[in-house]
Amino acid sequence: MDWIRLTKSGNDLTGLKGRLIEVTEEELRKHNKKDDCWICIRGFVYNVSPYMEYHPGGEDELMRAAGSDGTDLFDQVHRWVNYESMLKECLIGRMAVKPAVLKDNREEKKVLNGMLPKSQVTDTLAKDGPSSPSYDWFQTDSLVTIIIYTKQKDINLDSVIVDHQDDAFRAETVIKNCSYLIHIELSHEVQEDFSVRVVENVGKIEIVLKKKENTSWKFLGHPLENHNSLIPRKERGLYYRKCQLISKEDITHDTKLFCLMRPPSTHLQVPIGQHVYLKLTVAGTEIVKPYTPVSDSLLLEFKEPALPNNKYIYFLIKIYPAGFFTPELDHLQIGDFVSVSSPEGNLKISKFQELEDLFLLAAGTGFTPMVKILNYALTNIPSLRKVKLMFFNKTEDDIIWRNQLEKLAFKEKRFDVEFVLSAPTSEWNGKLGHISPALLSEFLQRSVDKSRVLICICGPAPFTEQGLRFLHDLNFSEDEIHDFTA
Ligand code: FAD
Ligand code: NAD
Repeated sequence: MDWIRLTKSGNDLTGLKGRLIEVTEEELRKHNKKDDCWICIRGFVYNVSPYMEYHPGGEDELMRAAGSDGTDLFDQVHRWVNYESMLKECLIGRMAVKPAVLKDNREEKKVLNGMLPKSQVTDTLAKDGPSSPSYDWFQTDSLVTIIIYTKQKDINLDSVIVDHQDDAFRAETVIKNCSYLIHIELSHEVQEDFSVRVVENVGKIEIVLKKKENTSWKFLGHPLENHNSLIPRKERGLYYRKCQLISKEDITHDTKLFCLMRPPSTHLQVPIGQHVYLKLTVAGTEIVKPYTPVSDSLLLEFKEPALPNNKYIYFLIKIYPAGFFTPELDHLQIGDFVSVSSPEGNLKISKFQELEDLFLLAAGTGFTPMVKILNYALTNIPSLRKVKLMFFNKTEDDIIWRNQLEKLAFKEKRFDVEFVLSAPTSEWNGKLGHISPALLSEFLQRSVDKSRVLICICGPAPFTEQGLRFLHDLNFSEDEIHDFTA
């Protein structure tokens, strides 16, 4: 908030009195001291000296990029942060670059044919990435179908994210670690809702749009930025759509279940173990934080989900009264909007194949990724013998969905839960303390000798770091562990 106040103060934070300049590499290199520090991010140069003392990671971290291109470093640490908004008052100008060569008509035509131009497949992608996807389209009187040929078999409805907003049609397909984008301004109007179908065994995705008028389209539309491109997933900027707050329910004294509704013109399913970013504008600045969607309840077999799942997205979110983002979120009224990004995360579903023992170590809201994992494992993995959750909290009042967890343990023979409290009242007669080798070695007992095991761990950073150290000391291999970190 102090930083935002400073940016609104009208002070000249660049020293350029509102001018923007072109910066050469030579000039950039000269500004490499704390009191005169310029950094380039994605071609734009910022004077970050006034921001030094506000940087949550400290001055030294920021100085690692002083006088140079900090894009890679920035992307590694917090690429979701909206630096354009945070640093807009520090903008010096653009890097001086040669003008881009405009596409000629032939190339444009090739793009609209749906084949990926050779020049867009970088050497790394050609070697390690998926084979080039492509797309095509056809129409009937009332429908337009866009087909994406991914040339991969492990494609499902989670793999494609489709949005149609502000005249831009956007379909991003995640194929292995890459992102294939179709981005078009459609030539004619279509209705808001559409359907998405995946033919898994041939890796084909069909998006069926409903025409507003039954006229014949001569072409699909005009290509927009990065249309028909295949790039590593982490290089694709996060894309947001506005979702509406439908309900907010108290779960514990400080944690709430938020239900958001996707717009009808969005197809977005968040894969197990992945998170999204929620974005709100606080005092004119966009603030973004990651959250892990959950299901609306643990006990899917006990009750039908109250609302169909493809339309709603649920979050269990702890409100920190002194926090920056969560009080703002908590102040939203039913019907207000929050921007939700496309998903991110690296849990591979193949880790669950043939699994026999699944151990979940969760602390506080680190429980959130475990919700979908639990549901998935108990309903989809026939080889599974045992799922055990060790849930660390400060007090009994902090335990999220305790009742549901106990009911599930009662009903489902393969599932057990143990609660460990670090600051209980004197009435608590369960397990006590923080994560420790003693607690873990007692808890992580395989159901049979040499069983195939996976341990998932999530919570505050020190909890996860300590847990990982103990797990390695207990001789679990990297392959047997998945940790959730930012
Ligand atoms: P912050 O402003 O970050 O503050 C949090 C607490 O720290 C407050 O008590 C605040 O007073 C204190 N604090 C802040 N700065 C300082 C300081 N300098 N010194 C001392 N104390 C300080 N959370 C969920 O509730 N649900 C989820 O599903 C979820 N999923 C996540 C997924 C990922 C991948 C990650 C990385 C985090 C996830 N989180 C989740 C945490 C979430 O992203 C936020 O960190 C959390 O909501 C706090 O945000 P905030 O801005 O309200 O609080
Ligand atoms: P909390 O402060 O209520 O603590 C819960 C428990 O965590 C404690 O009872 C204790 O057992 C353990 N713990 C806390 N601090 C510890 C420390 N320094 N050393 C060892 N153990 C410690 O937890 P909270 O406020 O609910 O915070 C949850 C955390 O989980 C947040 O930091 C959030 O960012 C993180 N989270 C991460 C993800 C992800 O995917 N990476 C998802 C959800 C939450």
